[in-house]
Amino acid sequence: MSNGLTAYIEKDFEGTSLIIVSNREPYIHKKTGMTVKVDQPAGGLTSAMDDVLKATGGIWTAWGSGSGDREVVDAKSRVSVPPEKPSYTLKRVWLTPGEVDNYYHGYSNQVLWPLCHISLDRVYFRKRFWEDYKKANQSFADAVLEEADENSIVWVHDYHLCIVPEILREKKPELTIAHFWHIPWPDWSVFRVCPQAREILEAMLSNDLIGFQIPLFARNFMDCVRESVIDAETNYRQSTITFRGHTTRLKAFPISIDYDKFNTLASSWQTSRAIKKLKSKYALPDIVGIGVDRLEYTKGLIKRLQAINLLFERYERFRGKVTFIQIAVPTRLKEPYLSYKRSVEALVKKINDRFSTSAWRPVVYLDTKVEHKDLAAYYRMADMGIVSSAYDGMNLVGKEYVASQVDENGMLILSEFAGAADELEGAILVNPYDIEEFSDSIRKALTMAKEEKKERMSALRTQVRENDIYKWISDLLREMVFLSSSKQQKGSYFFDYTDTLHDSLAARRDSKAGKGRSPYFLFLDYDGTLTPIAESPDKARIAEEMRSLILELKKRVPVAVISGRALQDVKEQVGIEDIVYAGNHGSEIWDGERIVVSQHTDSSAQLLKNFLYALEQATAHIPGVFIEDKGVTASIHFRQVKTKVLSEFYELFTRIAKDYEQSFRITSGKKVFEIRPLDAWHKGDAVIWIMERMGNGRLPIYLGDDTTDEDAFRAIKNKGISICIGGSPDADYFLKDQDEVKDFLQWLAER
Ligand code: UDP
Repeated sequence: MSNGLTAYIEKDFEGTSLIIVSNREPYIHKKTGMTVKVDQPAGGLTSAMDDVLKATGGIWTAWGSGSGDREVVDAKSRVSVPPEKPSYTLKRVWLTPGEVDNYYHGYSNQVLWPLCHISLDRVYFRKRFWEDYKKANQSFADAVLEEADENSIVWVHDYHLCIVPEILREKKPELTIAHFWHIPWPDWSVFRVCPQAREILEAMLSNDLIGFQIPLFARNFMDCVRESVIDAETNYRQSTITFRGHTTRLKAFPISIDYDKFNTLASSWQTSRAIKKLKSKYALPDIVGIGVDRLEYTKGLIKRLQAINLLFERYERFRGKVTFIQIAVPTRLKEPYLSYKRSVEALVKKINDRFSTSAWRPVVYLDTKVEHKDLAAYYRMADMGIVSSAYDGMNLVGKEYVASQVDENGMLILSEFAGAADELEGAILVNPYDIEEFSDSIRKALTMAKEEKKERMSALRTQVRENDIYKWISDLLREMVFLSSSKQQKGSYFFDYTDTLHDSLAARRDSKAGKGRSPYFLFLDYDGTLTPIAESPDKARIAEEMRSLILELKKRVPVAVISGRALQDVKEQVGIEDIVYAGNHGSEIWDGERIVVSQHTDSSAQLLKNFLYALEQATAHIPGVFIEDKGVTASIHFRQVKTKVLSEFYELFTRIAKDYEQSFRITSGKKVFEIRPLDAWHKGDAVIWIMERMGNGRLPIYLGDDTTDEDAFRAIKNKGISICIGGSPDADYFLKDQDEVKDFLQWLAER
């Protein structure tokens, strides 16, 4: 486990009881003759979660699927694991064979799985599936309820357990419940096919948090609720849904892999030796491609093989020179998987029959599971990794391939319909349905210059290294602990931090640095902090009462207003001359009398103008897009764009933004894209600069509400106090809305 996560658990997780609920169990006891053997399923996720529970202690509730599982548990179906050094409890849930058929093979795998992967003709629904799905969910929930106390955090996994949160909430309303949805969430036009669409959505709204792989899936979920649960209140700005008095937060947490494990495995001498063996065993040519998948229709294996067939048909020069290895592990050995397996194998045969020579085979097809330690050799030796999912929540194989590319010689071809495509910048993205473009992308990967491959692969490796499975877990745990502690504060959060602030301010006043000075420096974001978010920026006006409070406060303490707006604009909006302002996210700073920082350069301003012009042309037909050119930076507002044209807008924006991503940092906030030159300051830089020049040892207090404020929250972590309107795990405290901001400023002013 990573050091960061270990430290986090030791420091912040103290006293929290964690209960994980998943269909699959982390340890399976199997009977072999008279003895019982324990097996640990190899999945990356189970082993990472196992590491976490080993560190935190707690309970893992899962279906007891092993033939020896009943023999080792106590009267409450519990067994301590891991067997060699027990550190947490595995609590087993018992299901009858009929329930397993209907709940697992039926509703989970023949309804929800194909539905969420937009494979509608594979959806097969029977009433008994749903009845047993509910029954099984009740059994999982009962098991959790037997163990949970009121401070427990329950972490539910995936599509097998949609109803569990509702049962838990009803019986123990004070629990903190988070659900991670590992697969895609489709849009309403697809999800409404589900006969129980509304029941499922309503049940899931008992969660405090639902984690999705990428923001698109969270948005789709939100749209589904808005269309079908008419008494739910959806808040797109804060990404929350309030239903029957309970609020659920939706957020994307892209899952990942153990980077260090694959990097180390791939670098080992055993892997180098294994590569030599593989090359000789399969008589491989110099150039090799790899695909590693479960034999699963969502993985787009047919499209991949069609593209490979086309490659050899169109580009004869690759014949005899390139071999594709396809590892295809049989899975769920029932229909429609059996037919899919036959189709895949027939296509492999067709390609091999058509192109093979006595010395060369275009496709090597392996239909057994390969362990990670052996997979590293396939990944490392391959000049190209192919992931061609028709639809995929994330896809870990692409990330494993990148982590194993220690020589940086390979290239990843990645379906744009895999969640991983959101993050893996540098991969060649393909639409697997367009087999001509797909085969052309394979050609491009095979002929790409060494330097370009190195550059792309190095960026990909940094991305996966910095966002590994342990970061995923700690991001989720952090969010859960944040929700759990805000829940325990109950009611207004305001009064809970007055003591802390009082202590911090008093300590600062008494300290050497703070002697005789006003103890703090107040930083205020503008939109969403001093004013509510409006439909368009010109409609966001500061209330007179708020302005008077700032006038009052500035008599006693230094005040800075930090905004993404242009400096002149935010100064005019606030209407107070002699305080500090940072405009354009910190690229321009006014010290109360004059401009002291201006990062404006003609060349970047011109490039920005070109970018905005291209956007304006492309989106002219979409009503509601507002392009705000602020000279150094720009904001593209789309709050007023209608939902039905939003995806078209995203697509156009992404296409044009791609041409400018070398020069600009593009981030998204509340229905706005922010465009800033790569080297321009962010709000955190501005706060640090201001504190160094004008801080005089004071304690920075920063109030903000949006993603761009998170830079500032992080910049003053452990050095000041950060307060987020709406809440953010990066901030120390949170306030609900502008009324609470007013109360807070009032409280400060009266001190
Ligand atoms: N896998 C494996 N051996 C194999 C084939 C696959 O260990 O022979 C693993 C692979 O390394 C990856 C996982 O199975 O960790 C597949 O994860 P992915 O997200 O790509 O797809 P999923 O099967 O979860 O839909």
